[in-house]
Amino acid sequence: MSAQAGWIVRKFGGSSVANAECIERAARLIAAEPAPRQAIVVSAARGVTDALFDLVSRAERQDQEAASRLEALGDRHRTMASALLASREARDTFERDLAADLRNIADILHATAIVRAASHSVRELVAGYGELWSSRLIASALRERLDCNITWLDAREIVTIRPGELGPVVVWPRARAALAERLDPDYTGVVLVPGYVASDETGVQTTLGRNGSDYSASIFGALLHAQRIEIWTDVDGVLSADPRLVPDARIVPTLSYHEAVELAYFGARVIHPQTMAPAIEHGIPICIRNSFAPESPGTIIGATIDAEGAVKGITSIDRIALLNLEGTGMIGVPGTAHRLFGALHDAGVSVVLISQASSEHSICFAVPEGDIERAETAVRRAFDAELREGQIESLGATRGHSILAVVGEGMAGVPGVAARLFGALGGAGVNVRAIAQGSSERNISAVIDGRETTRALRAVHAGFYLSPHTLSIGVIGPGRVGATFLTQLASQAERLRAERHLDLRVRGIATSRRMLLDGRSVSLDGWSDALARDGADCDLDRFADHVQSDQLPHAVIIDCTADRAVAQRYADWLARGIHVITPNKKANSGSFGYYEQLVRQRRASRVHYLYETTVGAGLPIIQTLRDLRETGDEIHSVEGILSGTLAWLFNLFDGSRPFSDILREARERGYTEPDPRDDLTGGDVASKLVILARELGLRIGLDDVEVESLVPAPLLGLDADSFLDRFAAYDAAMAERHAVAAAAGDVLRYVARLDAGGSASVGLERVPASHPFARIALTDNVVRFVTGRYHENPLIVQGPGAGPDVTAAGVFADLLRLGTYLGASL
Ligand code: ADP
Ligand code: ASP
Ligand code: MG
Repeated sequence: MSAQAGWIVRKFGGSSVANAECIERAARLIAAEPAPRQAIVVSAARGVTDALFDLVSRAERQDQEAASRLEALGDRHRTMASALLASREARDTFERDLAADLRNIADILHATAIVRAASHSVRELVAGYGELWSSRLIASALRERLDCNITWLDAREIVTIRPGELGPVVVWPRARAALAERLDPDYTGVVLVPGYVASDETGVQTTLGRNGSDYSASIFGALLHAQRIEIWTDVDGVLSADPRLVPDARIVPTLSYHEAVELAYFGARVIHPQTMAPAIEHGIPICIRNSFAPESPGTIIGATIDAEGAVKGITSIDRIALLNLEGTGMIGVPGTAHRLFGALHDAGVSVVLISQASSEHSICFAVPEGDIERAETAVRRAFDAELREGQIESLGATRGHSILAVVGEGMAGVPGVAARLFGALGGAGVNVRAIAQGSSERNISAVIDGRETTRALRAVHAGFYLSPHTLSIGVIGPGRVGATFLTQLASQAERLRAERHLDLRVRGIATSRRMLLDGRSVSLDGWSDALARDGADCDLDRFADHVQSDQLPHAVIIDCTADRAVAQRYADWLARGIHVITPNKKANSGSFGYYEQLVRQRRASRVHYLYETTVGAGLPIIQTLRDLRETGDEIHSVEGILSGTLAWLFNLFDGSRPFSDILREARERGYTEPDPRDDLTGGDVASKLVILARELGLRIGLDDVEVESLVPAPLLGLDADSFLDRFAAYDAAMAERHAVAAAAGDVLRYVARLDAGGSASVGLERVPASHPFARIALTDNVVRFVTGRYHENPLIVQGPGAGPDVTAAGVFADLLRLGTYLGASL
């Protein structure tokens, strides 16, 4: 090797060279690299290798479509060439070579169709063409774009392999000699290398196995004594889990070689497991980068082990079969395991995981599902005598499993990793069939039901990576209160995450008609547009399923509607473990049986149901009442003004203006319900009183409350506007009530009263001007608790009791309270 500046090997995966646009992007990355010596290893364009394998299978079935599919592959490459290559000559050369390859493949397919079977080597031969095409195309494209040497190196002439235990093994001396022959040691510029392809010892074209271009990159890294190897792919690096299965997966900044091998072996497709060996030997760091986001730093795989974070990643392998060899005859018999694995080895079955109980009563091992028959036959043959004589009672085999593995070098020194893993699996209801811990203690693996893989991965990922105080939130009814709440949350979410480690993620918003769901979190800036643009038809079952995702530890639904049907769902949600927060009065003031059920559920499980804002908006009324009761105070009575609307009306009504006039103004200011009669009938106040009464332990319902309605009976049947017109006719009567009260130094107030005996009433009363209920302002609510302890001087809670701002803040406060119940420290 020359003493020149070193080589950098950069591998572009299938998605990074999927089409002309991607190749253009890769070319820019190549052009931007200052190193004068780059070896570019490329994969086939995305999907091409699969398509080539498929052609062979079709030919074996004599499927007529094989020919047209081959032609389509040719078209796809010709299209890319005409988009990328400006020079006619370059295009012609590319197309001529391509046409020759397509003819070869057509011949092979033809022969395959005749014999109706393709050997392993035929399959491998065909599979490698994709890399030849992509690398030739990129070499030509770079020649037109870069002003330096560009050489296409035929990897088949350099990399000779022979089969090994764990996959193909490179015949290094031959490879080194072949490279020296083909590349001047002083060469500067770019070398283009097709990944994946190689030759067998007889010189026939073959491959390094699926995903093998990563391995090609490290083989060339070793041959060129590269300074570093870069793997350019379509994700930001090695992530803590497969991002398609775990949306919360995050970049792992550094990995040791061994951790990377382990992750790759256990299914992290982002890097081929054999890639690390040549790099380890020559101490070459491997960087995983995103060709679609080159600004992201990616993952560095190297020799150093970083002490931080015991668990680096979580992976899974699907389609695993579990075999269990059982029998008392194995106890204390030396060499059983040896015989077993010897037999499997001889049958060419690779054992993915072994677990043996220390009693030696049984040995359980996992193999790829495709190997199950071979494995069974081999084991039965090896233990034929023991099986016949009953020393081994059974050999059981089950399919449909998967293996979940957590990987990290630091695990050995950190207690509690296994507990956390199995705790998370248990919490998600995932049954573990077998467990193995690698003796390196770099990995713990569990065999689980294959159908539960995604759920298991997400739960385990949440267990290790997310703050236990991450909440998945669904908001139903983003009207005035709901929308204000979302705005308030948006302004505090970042601070709460940074300073309080409380990660509040709104992952769903639903109106009565539409809903917006997001795997991570809905952007709180533009949710309303997004809901209109991307929202789906509202389906509250799907909404709840989404909010209660396996990937996050806790779920809460915030119901900001006034809808009875939504309230009817709380029981279901609580039963499923979804916490509920609501200002909606319907559930707690409706049927007593339902209310009791909700309380029972709340008390029986660790699920929380919070509804402070059903009475007095953001004022601490329910909490105060509960504190009084639970600390053993004796509550004699609860009285107060519980409607912000009625408070405002009677605060303003001093006889100088007709009452209907004031009502009209209140409606215009948005202080009343759209139909002001909903406030004036007293039903709303009665509902609040029922909620308080039940909180006190009283078994009462709306029917038990004596209600004075301020809506004259003849006006009940009208529409809202005609009601307002006709209501003026009653102004005189109201003025009269006011005058009588005023003459005695009293004021009119709409008061709710409840005593410990269960008598409950709401209505318009005369209250002395010095009474606390008289001295309120605007929309103030006031509640007076007379108790054993607060007797002489009752406990009073007073303040604004209506309006979206204070109600939303009350909902927000309930959410933070939930956060503290779940362990956050605020
Ligand atoms: P390329 O074609 O670039 O070789 P691959 O498709 O072979 O890309 O590998 C990248 C893919 O690996 C990612 O898109 C991702 O879906 C998958 N993957 C699985 N596990 C992981 C992981 N732990 N980290 C990153 N990606 C992963
Ligand atoms: N093209 C090959 C495959 O799809 C090799 C690779 O992309 O790494 O397996
Ligand atoms: Mg790959």
